[in-house]
Amino acid sequence: MTVLSVAVKGLGFTIVNFRCSIGKKAGGENMFIGHFAPAMVAAAHPRAPGLGTLFVAGQFLDFGFFGLALIGVENFRITPGITQMVPLDLYDMPYTHSLLGSTLLAAAFALLIWLFTRNRTGALIGGAVVLSHWFLDLLVHAPDLTLAGSPPKFGLGLWNYPLIEMPLEISITFGALALYICRTRAISARSKYALGLLAVLLMAMQSINWFGPEPQSADMAMKLTGLFAFSVAALAAWWAGRTRMVKQT
Ligand SMILES: [Zn+2]
Repeated sequence: MTVLSVAVKGLGFTIVNFRCSIGKKAGGENMFIGHFAPAMVAAAHPRAPGLGTLFVAGQFLDFGFFGLALIGVENFRITPGITQMVPLDLYDMPYTHSLLGSTLLAAAFALLIWLFTRNRTGALIGGAVVLSHWFLDLLVHAPDLTLAGSPPKFGLGLWNYPLIEMPLEISITFGALALYICRTRAISARSKYALGLLAVLLMAMQSINWFGPEPQSADMAMKLTGLFAFSVAALAAWWAGRTRMVKQT
């Protein structure tokens, strides 16, 4: 173990202790708003699908996961302390979070876009955003991601390093939002309100995710809350996307 990782771990404990001392623990379900970063970068391409569609793509695997968890096809449980930041033991998600399953879901999403729009580039962009989810999860998850549904399991575990994970998630998300704003122009006077709402919503959701009460059990309410939060973010993105268009270079 390097000096750096010891130092980071020590500082991580400090943050966790700080949270406990203000009476709250890290809550949340996943790397959350970071999954929208690829969506916002992709939306700057002239042939890309709309921003709302791309937000659905960024969380498509978690839409699937919470959906399948609701009917008991995939499973997780709350195990406090399993990682420093997130208490989720994601022990059973072979369909949505194996590399094979993610790739098939990305292909299905791309096919849907192609069927609706006949835009092959847009379909490929949408599929790529779906697949980006697995690789972002690979960075933060404890080893719970598989290649094809069975072990070995992969995950680099940045959820154990809040001082790395938190600035990383914020910087990729808001960096991507800044890039999206630079590469597009307003076509409606409401654009600034829509972008403002989107930015505030993302920050608020991530704050609840990090600092809200820790989930007590992997119950139906928690799964529905996850699906609801992803949908609200996608709706806000849809509105923002309708007020802007990609600049012609
Ligand atoms: Zn996920």
